[in-house]
Order: sequence, then C-alpha cells, then structure tokens
Amino acid sequence: MYLGSEVDARLNEASGDMMSYVNSSKHREIIEDALADFGTVVYVQPDEEVDMKEIQVSGVFDPQKKRKNIEICLHYNPKSMRIVLTEPQWDRLRNNLSGCMQHELIHRNQWSRIRNKDREGSLWDRYYKSYESDPEKIKTQEYFGEFMEIDAHAHDFMLEMKRNSKKISPYVILRDNRSIDTAKYPTFFEYLGVFNHDRSSPVMKKFFDRTRFWVKEEVRHEGKWWK
Ligand SMILES: [Zn+2]
Repeated sequence: MYLGSEVDARLNEASGDMMSYVNSSKHREIIEDALADFGTVVYVQPDEEVDMKEIQVSGVFDPQKKRKNIEICLHYNPKSMRIVLTEPQWDRLRNNLSGCMQHELIHRNQWSRIRNKDREGSLWDRYYKSYESDPEKIKTQEYFGEFMEIDAHAHDFMLEMKRNSKKISPYVILRDNRSIDTAKYPTFFEYLGVFNHDRSSPVMKKFFDRTRFWVKEEVRHEGKWWK
C-alpha cells in the first residue's frame, strides 16, 4: 500500500481553487473532488474548539461500507465558516488532509488483509489489555494499543519526521528522542503520554518498530529526505 505521493498530487492540484474560494461548502466540494478516486466522502462540521483562522481535519474508515468508506471531516469555527486561506494555512491544511487520508487508507488496507487472511494481516486484529485502574485511561490505552492503530499512528509519526526533520535521520530520532520538540511530533508525544512516558512498554516498542518499517517504505518509494 503506497499512495502518499498520489494523495499529495491530487491535493496540490486543488491549491488554486482552495485559495480562491472562501466558503466552507465550496471547500468541501473541492476536497471531495480531489479525493474522489480514493473512495472518500467529505463533510463540514462547525466546531467551537477550532481556531477562527484554522480548518481542522479528522477522518474515519468504515469497514462495513463497500464504497466511499473513508469519511473526511473539515472542522470550522462556527463564526468563521468563510475563510480566506493564506499559503501557510493551506500548507498546514494540505499536510493534515494528506496525513489523515493516508492514515485511513492504511486502515482500509489492514481490513482487506484481515479479510484475505494474508500472513501480515493476522497481526492486525490483536488487542492490547490495559492494567490501569481509571476506566477512561483503560479506554484510551486500549484504543492506542490496538495493533491497527499503532501501525497507522506510526505512519503519522514517520510523516511528522519527514516534514520537520530534514537534517536529522529518523533512525537517530527513534534511538534518542528525549529532547525533541513536542510541537513537531504530536503523534509521538500523544503515544508517550498515553503509555505513561515508558519508552520500554510493549506498545511503545511496537510503535518504534512500526515507525522504522514505514521509514523504510517511504525511502523505498521516495528516497531519503534527510542529509
Ligand atoms: Zn486510526
């Protein structure tokens, strides 16, 4: 499964349109057209939590559906459903859209492997048992500890390193990540927080292993991005 550059190419083609329209409903249409070939439906959602100047992205893959089973949601602050996108804003939005699409495409691929019972697919329906006492914490750990999520989030982390670390090898970051910038690697810090900053927990070990796997895959298709 490798569609990163295709997703990026489609979104790049949409740049001109996205920057010339301000309406959330028009944005929705442009993004849905751009991502149509990947079987994606796009929604708009007003959301008080979102900054007035930003559009946030979330996604979900629905294994019950045969067609159009990836849903992408654009979250706007209800007071700014019309936004003039500047170039840096569109850059951020495009990166988030691309990352989110790739995350959901990975889930789609995992499910097709489980259905076809291939060798690697047998890994993906494993669950993690949390030993915490707080029910909320258990829920969070079991969600993030599921192998499918470790795999897709490891890909998110690989993309964060690719965007933010043009000078450091991702393998160095994977070995020594005690002083890296939290803002640049939100996925990594989210995992670390959920698993109590224990880098040697079985989930963190799998997360690092899977990130290494995705770094290799990305390099195989796109070449090295660091010097
Ligand atoms: Zn996921």
